[in-house]
Amino acid sequence: MKTSTRVVVIGGGVVGASVLYHLTKLGWSDVMLLERAELTSGSTWHAAGGFHTLNGDTNMAALQGYTIKLYKELEELTGMSCGLHHVGGVTLADNKDRFDMLVAERAKHRYMGLETEIIGPDEIAMIAPIANTDGIIGALYDPLDGHLDPSGTTHAYAKAARMGGAEIVTHCMVTATTQRGDGTWDVVTDKGTIHTEHVVNAGGLWAREVAAMAGIYAPLHPMEHQYIVTDDVPEIVERDSEHPHVMDPAGESYLRQEGRGLCIGFYEQPCRPWAVDGTPWSFGAELLPNDLDKIEDSIEFAYKRFPALARAGVKSVVHGPFTFAPDGNPLVGPIPGVQGYWSACGVMAGFSQGGGVGLMLAQWMVEGECERDVTAMDVARFGNWITPGYTRPKVVENYQKRFSIAYPNEELPAARPHRTTPMYDIFTEHGAVWGHQYGLEVPNYFAQGDEPTFEAPSFRRSNAFAAVAREVKSLRNAVGITEVHNFGKFRVKGTRARQWLDRIMAGRIPKVGRISLTPMLSPKGKLMGDFTVSCLNETTFILTASYGAQAQHLRWFLMHQDDGVTIENISDKLNGFSIAGPRARDLLKRCTRDGANLAFLDARQMTIGQTACTVNRVSYTGDLGYEIYCDPMDQRALWTTLWTEGQPLGLSLFGMRAIMSLRLDRFFGSWMREFSPDYTAAETGMDRFIKWDKDFIGKEAAQAEQPTRQLVTFEVDAIDADVTAYEPIFIDGTVQGFCTSGGFSHHTGKSIAFGLVPKDQAHAGLKVEIEILGNMRPATLITDPIFDADGARLRG
Ligand SMILES: Cc1cc2nc3c(=O)[nH]c(=O)nc-3n(C[C@H](O)[C@H](O)[C@H](O)COP(=O)(O)OP(=O)(O)OC[C@H]3O[C@@H](n4cnc5c(N)ncnc54)[C@H](O)[C@@H]3O)c2cc1C
Repeated sequence: MKTSTRVVVIGGGVVGASVLYHLTKLGWSDVMLLERAELTSGSTWHAAGGFHTLNGDTNMAALQGYTIKLYKELEELTGMSCGLHHVGGVTLADNKDRFDMLVAERAKHRYMGLETEIIGPDEIAMIAPIANTDGIIGALYDPLDGHLDPSGTTHAYAKAARMGGAEIVTHCMVTATTQRGDGTWDVVTDKGTIHTEHVVNAGGLWAREVAAMAGIYAPLHPMEHQYIVTDDVPEIVERDSEHPHVMDPAGESYLRQEGRGLCIGFYEQPCRPWAVDGTPWSFGAELLPNDLDKIEDSIEFAYKRFPALARAGVKSVVHGPFTFAPDGNPLVGPIPGVQGYWSACGVMAGFSQGGGVGLMLAQWMVEGECERDVTAMDVARFGNWITPGYTRPKVVENYQKRFSIAYPNEELPAARPHRTTPMYDIFTEHGAVWGHQYGLEVPNYFAQGDEPTFEAPSFRRSNAFAAVAREVKSLRNAVGITEVHNFGKFRVKGTRARQWLDRIMAGRIPKVGRISLTPMLSPKGKLMGDFTVSCLNETTFILTASYGAQAQHLRWFLMHQDDGVTIENISDKLNGFSIAGPRARDLLKRCTRDGANLAFLDARQMTIGQTACTVNRVSYTGDLGYEIYCDPMDQRALWTTLWTEGQPLGLSLFGMRAIMSLRLDRFFGSWMREFSPDYTAAETGMDRFIKWDKDFIGKEAAQAEQPTRQLVTFEVDAIDADVTAYEPIFIDGTVQGFCTSGGFSHHTGKSIAFGLVPKDQAHAGLKVEIEILGNMRPATLITDPIFDADGARLRG
């Protein structure tokens, strides 16, 4: 066994083996994997081995497609069998909403190049005769669905990694990981200590324990899971081809052929978290005792959907644990603030996702960034606010909703409220209907009179439509107020703060008392953030950006930190309000003796009422507006001043739904929709903020770029559903682009969509069709903002 290496991967399940293989594939051969028993000794050996591409997140779906296509490559490379059965699969829909969801998924697959298909009950009966189609209105057919041999596949990854120079040591238990002063690691095992630059936690069922060895909390939890294998089933025995997979979300089951019988697994409602206080080191080779009572209701439902099951004897029951993160996606990437420590855990579908996880992590480690946006699985999507007490109920909720319809406007209730600001009870009294972002309660809208106090989940315009319209109109006609708690905020200080910001941000860094907007780029020219920078004095700057990306941004800042610069995440240490609308200036005047004549993009420290504030003359509503920041301890006093003084001016509250409508009027993009690491500054028009006569990270790539697509805006002839994200855009009958987001502009009464289309097609008046829930809706490319086109209100 080597005592020094570049990377130690802890854990020889399918995920660790995939990471190891991909590191060698990208050219790092001095890498090791340590496994405390034999390979596959965690969840991997008892998996049902099913794989599929379906995933609500488009990048995750693409990575699942990559994983599935990789298996053939692995077989060819190693000469080993993964036991592949590419039998295809159908996902059934028994109601309109579920069908809408599948149709929307199919639409996304069009530009992703995935060959899925929507089929009706007759075709379902032909393809998957084992299913009783009573009450079924359609299904999504995916020819890529299938299953494999979990052990064979893990060993194939391992062999491929060994062929690339990797060393794998089994029966080698990691007992400690200790960081040296220079940031490198000592990995202590029962066979000796290994010195390494990078540690990868692929500990699967023991990932929590492995993370804790480095003082890290891994936000995941194991859940019990059960599947049944039957004796021979005559309907299967008689077939001359293998039966495809059938996912029946209504019955929370997945079914496939196993030998001459069937295998069916369940995501049952009375599910159970496993090993709440930690996974025992003694566990591994055994299963959990059968518990058919727990899945009794699910079995009963399955007997109706698959009558052949009711007649079949049970050959075996597999009951084992596997891990989930709170949102069900993997936990991948560098742990914020811990040099050289990487996460590759929380992978609940190792055979659909393991290849993609391995590829992304290897790219991150070897090349410094991934080829696509991996926010959906970035370990930093949970901040240091997360605790085991939050994770567990969220994981239970996620397990129970594994097969539920995922609506774009849905707010999941478990473990909430978790984080609130001083405004929580005041806003609740004002009718706040709460959503949540990055652990924080955020008002979606404020219900008045008989407006709904619960927004019903929907793919179409929701029952909150009228309430949101009222908030928008009230702001555009007078003045509105909301909280600025869900911005990520950083304080950058020091004698070298300006130089550092000049290097890290692509745009202009403002003079004292001014604000600038700037993209932040990766070395490959991808968008890493869109920031508002305000300069309070020559050595103090405040940065604001997406609240949900704060841990990712801080990780990036710390990776690139210079001497003479301090960077503090003050997202929750600075709060306040945004006021906007034609009477916003009048409101500010009434509340301060310090003058309200701030020019557009001015930043000024002033007293409002009795509260010391920093006021920025910017507004994401596209209107005359101000962001007013204060210490959260002073926030209620600030609220009393603004709310009281605002009443004669018609001041009203507005929430996130109104903001997302208002921004459409002036074509303002949003982080993780129009702007994300999937896109570049030139593609999204953010290059207009770049200051080319300075050096900054990503400059070379941005200068060399010849973009072939461009972000544009469409006015859509929609019916009762607007664009949400990733709908395909047809030009002359073929898919040539996709939407990034959209919605309804309540101010203008127009349905608006943003999307990327080929650059040579991006001209005003272009006629396209956008597929919304299976309907082809005509749309026209527009270039002038639909509100305040000359910016007179915004800048006036
Ligand atoms: C009943 C059941 C059915 C399933 N069906 C499917 C399916 O059909 N399709 C699908 O994609 N997924 C399925 N899964 C999930 C799948 O099993 C997991 O996604 C996958 O196995 C996770 O792999 P892993 O490598 O992350 O973790 P694990 O398989 O748990 O591997 C972790 C490894 O790390 C080792 N290790 C831990 N700590 C240490 C240490 N300190 N030192 C050295 N080694 C250590 C362990 O011994 C273990 O071998 C199923 C799971 C269950 C329970």
